[in-house]
Amino acid sequence: LINEMKLEFMSKSNNEAFGRIVAAAFASQLDPTVEELADIKTAVSEAVTNAIIHGYENESGIVKMHCRLYDEGVEIIVSDNGKGIEDVELARQPLYTSKPDMERSGMGFTVMESFMDGVEIFSEINAGTTVTMFK
Ligand code: ATP
Ligand code: MG
Repeated sequence: LINEMKLEFMSKSNNEAFGRIVAAAFASQLDPTVEELADIKTAVSEAVTNAIIHGYENESGIVKMHCRLYDEGVEIIVSDNGKGIEDVELARQPLYTSKPDMERSGMGFTVMESFMDGVEIFSEINAGTTVTMFK
């Protein structure tokens, strides 16, 4: 382990940009390429957006971000204490969304999977969701 940080912020849409900028700034200690940093920002943005709109359904809650830097890369954990995901395998499917009426395309997890090297999802109904990503 080279370095580690934890961050908590309110589930406000303004904090999507805040979360992704902080994650990118922290990960930049590993001297990533511009492209790698852009990928990290996109993935974090998707995870934080999900916590805000699905986890807390736009009500007030706390989103947590935990980042660890290793020689091999960065681990980013985004978690909420929101409503949880009933069927994680289904939620991971490209184009699956539980909010088709709200201009969601159901591509968030697919984007995270394609832009990061690994994505793990742990979720419990009425307890929350934790997304662990590595790149
Ligand atoms: P898009 O990300 O393209 O705007 P989306 O958010 O619906 O659409 P995904 O990000 O792939 O698509 O998420 C798929 C589904 O998983 C969501 O529709 C939602 O039902 C569920 N989900 C994702 N993250 C969470 C979360 N943090 N808490 C509760 N449910 C979630
Ligand atoms: Mg999404």
